[in-house]
Amino acid sequence: MAGIFDLSGRKAFVTGGAKGIGAAIVRALDRAGATVAIADLDVMAAQNVIAGLANGGFAVEIDVTRRASVQHAFDQAVEGLGGIDIVCANAGVSTMRPAIDLTDEDWDFNFDVNARGVFLTNQIAVRYFLAEKKQAAIVNTASLAAKVGAPLLAHYSASKFAVFGWTQALAREMAPKGIRVNCVCPGFVKTSMQEREIIWEAELRGMTPEAVRAEYVSLTPLGRIEEPEDVADVVVFLASDAARFMTGQGINITGGVRMD
Ligand code: NAD
Repeated sequence: MAGIFDLSGRKAFVTGGAKGIGAAIVRALDRAGATVAIADLDVMAAQNVIAGLANGGFAVEIDVTRRASVQHAFDQAVEGLGGIDIVCANAGVSTMRPAIDLTDEDWDFNFDVNARGVFLTNQIAVRYFLAEKKQAAIVNTASLAAKVGAPLLAHYSASKFAVFGWTQALAREMAPKGIRVNCVCPGFVKTSMQEREIIWEAELRGMTPEAVRAEYVSLTPLGRIEEPEDVADVVVFLASDAARFMTGQGINITGGVRMD
């Protein structure tokens, strides 16, 4: 990859990189020249992704909801890669239920992984960047549901609004130090998370999974279900010098889904 998009020599730490959008981010960073450490609950799946990369890299186990686990995985990655310049806090989960039926467990599970996970991953990374006086880029994975409240996903939406708010605030605090912080807001992306959501939504709305999938496409002006790679290429852009004057942004990658 040429010029300002080139990540040769950069080292990246990607949470939730074993599957779905995270695995696509890992492959895209690798194609752009970076070396990547994948941090995921599912370390076997992470190792399989690493095995297909051009620049090597390695997998570490992490539970992003636990500070000690995030610190340990991050330290291992710094040691294994010889430093880190790019952090993608991508690990996330969802459950689906009408707001009036949500349980405390739904709320805590979504907030622990999606909001606390991004907070811990970013804070631990930023402390390292400041100590090492590094110019660095953080790209968090938020969602379309970080900009508009999504029905049946009120708790998930709230946790993703938290990710966007955190991203904006951290970006402003870190800008004087040369650390950029942005997030991506994908729409309906073809992953195992989406497969689970389609089945839940079909059941909750009395539809077939095929009808739910068709509705996602009809809501998307570009006329298809989003691929993980559609998100990953924008993450590479945000991590690269091409995005050197961008910070605190939440970039919609939705195929034009209406946000009002
Ligand atoms: P996925 O379920 O396919 O993959 C999620 C990955 O995160 C898995 O590898 C999983 O093992 C890992 N993970 C889950 N909990 C973890 C934890 N506590 N610690 C460490 N790793 C953990 O999901 P996906 O669709 O690829 O989602 C990736 C991100 O994109 C999430 O933040 C999600 O909210 C966001 N997102 C997804 C969509 C979509 O339509 N799929 C849309 C918008 C945003």
